[in-house]
Amino acid sequence: MNDLPIRDDLRGEQPYGAPQLDVPVLLNVNENPYAPSAALADAAADAVREAVLGLNRYPDREAWDLRSDLAGYLERESVVSLGTEQVWAANGSNEIMMQILQAFGGPGRSVLSFAPTYSMYPEYARNTSTTWITAPRRDDFTIDAEAAVAAVATHRPAVVFIASPNNPTGTAVSLDLVRALHDATPGMVVVDEAYAEFRRDGTPSALSLLATHPRLLVTRTMSKAFALAGARLGYAAASRAVIDVLRVVRLPYHLSAVTQAVARTALAYADELQQRVAQLRVIRDDLASWLRSLGLDVPESDANFVLFGRFPDRHAGWQALLDHGVLIRETGPDGWLRVTVGTPTETETFKQALRKVLE
Ligand SMILES: *Cc1c(COP(=O)(O)O)cnc(C)c1O
Repeated sequence: MNDLPIRDDLRGEQPYGAPQLDVPVLLNVNENPYAPSAALADAAADAVREAVLGLNRYPDREAWDLRSDLAGYLERESVVSLGTEQVWAANGSNEIMMQILQAFGGPGRSVLSFAPTYSMYPEYARNTSTTWITAPRRDDFTIDAEAAVAAVATHRPAVVFIASPNNPTGTAVSLDLVRALHDATPGMVVVDEAYAEFRRDGTPSALSLLATHPRLLVTRTMSKAFALAGARLGYAAASRAVIDVLRVVRLPYHLSAVTQAVARTALAYADELQQRVAQLRVIRDDLASWLRSLGLDVPESDANFVLFGRFPDRHAGWQALLDHGVLIRETGPDGWLRVTVGTPTETETFKQALRKVLE
């Protein structure tokens, strides 16, 4: 590969991703443990058949019906009213993030985030030739607003990424912090709410700030709460002007008619899916308490995973769990491990395995 005329900044880089291993209990990439229901599968099959009958034509480039359904869903979920032109959809929120950096980042510009945070962000930055900068979180993984505003003043980033709830820590930010960052920067502020549906009661969504904060984007995904990671559907909400900028950089016909059909069907089943999310939130809270009862540190989680530590040798802990058939994630600062909330049975298997590992 190093003989190839590759970009200098890509030389020696490896493709990145969590290990995809064949193990009985998969709690490593924050997937929803519940597959879509048979009723949803039947409805999606019908919708896909309809879509396939039209596949000789290019898909709706604007994905208008899907975006309208997404706006309706956000109104029900977060009680924020948005026009269809304020919502944008793409192949996973990773494509949304790439489009944001293609439009607002790029050579000579930087993106700032607060570490530890999502390990994909530096990849999106590298791919778009945007400089990646991090400022630290506090020891409890919350963000100090004054330090965050100072970091923005120092680095003058074109884009600020805030994952809320944050991956891998589960930490959500206050709306005051989002307001302060938006006021402190002439650049774009992106709140990545991939796990928003799992937030605890009282944790707000940044969607409510859109009307008053013109350079704010809120991104969401159907990969987690909607149990649709395999379909690849992410979306963003922002002002119409911001969405119009993303439309400039998107590839023509980026979102297949099949994806649009499946996503619209899943949105019609949102109530059913949200009941499962409610169950997972209860399991998450129980799991966090149980881990604390073992004397482990567990930051508050508003997501469908919990971070726990600290291990003198976390790799040994991760491997020992894997030897018991449970795959979790070795991520975040050294000493910490992250486990996704599974079904009650999977969670029980994880607990039994961890008990043995800690003996
Ligand atoms: C899982 C996750 C996403 C979702 O990515 P998709 O590309 O939509 O599957 C986005 N942001 C964070 C922080 C995540 O953990």
